[in-house]
Amino acid sequence: MRYNRVTEEIVQRLVDIVGPGNVVTDPEKLEVYAGDEVPESEWKHLPEVVVKPENTGQVSEIIKLANRELVPVTPRGAGTGLAAGAVPMLGGIVLSLENMNRILEVDRENLFMVVEPGVTTGEVQKRAQEEGYFYAGDPCSADSSFIGGNVATNAGGNKAVKYGTTSRHIYGLELVLPTGEITTLGGKCVKDVTGYDLIHLMVGSEGTLGVVTKIYLKLLPRPLHNAVLLVPFAGMQAAIDIVPKIMTNGGIIPTSIEFMDKLCIKSAENYLNRSLPYGDAGAYIIIEVEAYTESQLEADYETIGNICLENGGLEVFVGDNKSSQEKIWKSRRYLAEALRVTSPVYCMEDIVVPVSNIPKVLAEIEKIARKYEIKIPCFGHAGDGNIHATLLKEDMDEATWHDKKEKVLEEMYSVTYAHGGKLSGEHGIGAKRKRAMAKFMDPVQLKMIAAIKKALDPNLILNPDKLVNVQ
Ligand SMILES: Cc1cc2nc3c(=O)[nH]c(=O)nc-3n(C[C@H](O)[C@H](O)[C@H](O)COP(=O)(O)OP(=O)(O)OC[C@H]3O[C@@H](n4cnc5c(N)ncnc54)[C@H](O)[C@@H]3O)c2cc1C
Repeated sequence: MRYNRVTEEIVQRLVDIVGPGNVVTDPEKLEVYAGDEVPESEWKHLPEVVVKPENTGQVSEIIKLANRELVPVTPRGAGTGLAAGAVPMLGGIVLSLENMNRILEVDRENLFMVVEPGVTTGEVQKRAQEEGYFYAGDPCSADSSFIGGNVATNAGGNKAVKYGTTSRHIYGLELVLPTGEITTLGGKCVKDVTGYDLIHLMVGSEGTLGVVTKIYLKLLPRPLHNAVLLVPFAGMQAAIDIVPKIMTNGGIIPTSIEFMDKLCIKSAENYLNRSLPYGDAGAYIIIEVEAYTESQLEADYETIGNICLENGGLEVFVGDNKSSQEKIWKSRRYLAEALRVTSPVYCMEDIVVPVSNIPKVLAEIEKIARKYEIKIPCFGHAGDGNIHATLLKEDMDEATWHDKKEKVLEEMYSVTYAHGGKLSGEHGIGAKRKRAMAKFMDPVQLKMIAAIKKALDPNLILNPDKLVNVQ
């Protein structure tokens, strides 16, 4: 597809739609919108213009204009993505949702919150809590990512093992389609099989099929009590083996079950500048449990603690108040920052495998790391098989890094698929994993994705050059 450049006339038309204060053309300010949280320079690209609509009508006008003029448009939330999804790889317009940041309604009778896409996930969680409810979506980036970005990436996070990913909490979406048409899918009905499940086609579509302009989120009753357990293990196999035991022998589904390998434990110690308990352990497991009564909570964490101790846990540290819980969570939550201190350039991967295969895949990754003499610390969500294997550049020169990274990724993805896994559990494909998608995904499914894209976006103007190749 051949696209047109953004002309002065197009900029003027954008100014007419959103006002001069909401159009950015200053190259220094455009820089902010050239990338997301993927640190490598190959995944940065300057937009020609950034536009910040304040309502759905404006989004629709912008898309109609881009569609007429054949200019690419890249929707952008907070830019915390880890797949270069919000990066305008072909230039054109970045459509930033940052000004659409209102909580529109808390519906106490139907347990819904209706929000615009630019509200941060943390604000959604806080408002739900203030109202006596609970919003269960919880990516580690909650303080900075937008709820619209969470919808577009179907964000997972720490609580997915119990509550599922973002898609589980979305019952309605207002969208602007790539043609500029506005439509609302679903709403506040809890059941709805009136036609295809278009909501769940849109959730996770990474801004390629429509711009999300309003979201209907399901709220839950708020669990009143929680506890966090830190359990060091000598090795990863024993650590991961406790996951099904907690659920089947214990009959408990924890809110979170996270793991960190040896390299991550060391990085966390360096970053936090303190020694962690059993700092030489082979693996850490962090488990959070929630309950509606204190006695239920105590019973649950005692059961879990005993299962861990009977199955190789070296000790069980219980955080039953805010400060002790925060202390435990800190070592896991700040891992991205901790690894960045070790190596400012890194490649964080997001493979996902059946839970029982985590130790086998980690052992294979260790072999690959030794073969290519590269450090690959691994951490992630043990409860749902999601592994953030993170390749560190450290002091490698650019050419070596590029070469090693390509080879390591190829082998790592092959091992993942050989163990029943997939490229991405929660971060998505974006631009970063597009080549791998072409290689590893079933060609029939690649064809289905391309057909859906073409049907909804005949001019391929919305977030083009992402996920799959479409002609
Ligand atoms: C420290 C850190 C921790 C993280 N932890 C997690 C985690 O635990 N779980 C997890 O899943 N992710 C995690 N992430 C990744 C990231 O925060 C999520 O992918 C998040 O959902 C992205 O939201 P965003 O608003 O920043 O979106 P952006 O990065 O701006 O965009 C992401 C994608 O969504 C599209 N998009 C954004 N808004 C819209 C919209 N309104 N309509 C249509 N398309 C849109 C963009 O085009 C792009 O393709 C983490 C990132 C960091 C930096």
